[in-house]
Amino acid sequence: MAEVWDAVIIGAGPAGLSAALYLARFQRSTLVLHDGASRAAHIPLSHNVPGYPEGVSGERLLATMTRHAATYGAALVKAHVESASICDRSFASVADDGRRWLSRTLLLATGVEMNEIELDAGDHDCAIAEGVVRYCPICDGYEHIGERIAVIGCDAQGAGEALFLRQYSESVTLIPRRYADLSPDTLQQLLQAGVTVIDAPVEQLVQGRACVRLRLKGCAETLRFDVVYPALGLRPRAKLAVDLGLSPDGDGNLAAEAIFGTAVPGLYAAGDVVAGLDQISVAMGHGAIAATRAHNWLRDRDGQTLKGH
Ligand SMILES: Cc1cc2nc3c(=O)[nH]c(=O)nc-3n(C[C@H](O)[C@H](O)[C@H](O)COP(=O)(O)OP(=O)(O)OC[C@H]3O[C@@H](n4cnc5c(N)ncnc54)[C@H](O)[C@@H]3O)c2cc1C
Repeated sequence: MAEVWDAVIIGAGPAGLSAALYLARFQRSTLVLHDGASRAAHIPLSHNVPGYPEGVSGERLLATMTRHAATYGAALVKAHVESASICDRSFASVADDGRRWLSRTLLLATGVEMNEIELDAGDHDCAIAEGVVRYCPICDGYEHIGERIAVIGCDAQGAGEALFLRQYSESVTLIPRRYADLSPDTLQQLLQAGVTVIDAPVEQLVQGRACVRLRLKGCAETLRFDVVYPALGLRPRAKLAVDLGLSPDGDGNLAAEAIFGTAVPGLYAAGDVVAGLDQISVAMGHGAIAATRAHNWLRDRDGQTLKGH
């Protein structure tokens, strides 16, 4: 008979790994399945993870968290999980190569995919590593105090990010990727705040030395920025939750309450895939909450909790 794990966690980012640590320390048989695509792996050096005053790279953080969870017995397997279903009161997670795992609880910590910008010259991953292309003003706006900042994506998201970054620099320019989609009120607010708003879309993006050069449609000259923030939206990886009957919100996120439990008994979600602030410390907290909920749900199911409470 196939092994039934107490908990399968899909995702080995900060959310999944903190959940794995908690569940393993609750002495639950815990398996983490992941396809090696944690967004955290792209972080060159984060300065806002509590406990790391000197900063920490995403790779190092993930390696340390993996070791920490494994120390208490959590198992990790690399697999791309293609589908999830319920089968005889267990969750069945099935990989694209046909491998299948059963579990009493399932915790989705599957994160989001970013809509990335293409560079015409230079390498995207290298530009991220160099810190000249950034995707998260909350994470690293501080690192660009007083620099020339461009935000690409002239819509409500881009406007919000430009205003947020304006606190760090007097030189913030908002540029459309293809076309501008700003209401007159938003445009006025941006201009009042001192954000430069350009109409012409970006035609060419070239990574230079400690800078990015942008050529705009109809302009011969290039503009040089110290850092570019593409504000092109995110795609939550919520497909497995949909397989199990959950409905994401209009942005594709799972409900914030999914960290406490969902309409499907034994199913939890944590981290970026749920609505809220996409940050490492938040993902870790989500993982801790969802894991404790899953553990107590199992205790309840096994008649191990205080009756009448
Ligand atoms: C360039 C960059 C810089 C950032 N800087 C910071 C920063 O300084 N500070 C900060 O707090 N945040 C930062 N972030 C955001 C941070 O990385 C995320 O908030 C964090 O990684 C979310 O953790 P998570 O566990 O929810 O998701 P992720 O870390 O994205 O992990 C998702 C996991 O799910 C797995 N997965 C998904 N679907 C499947 C599937 N079907 N089958 C198998 N596995 C699956 C993936 O392989 C991965 O292991 C940054 C992000 C980027 C891209």
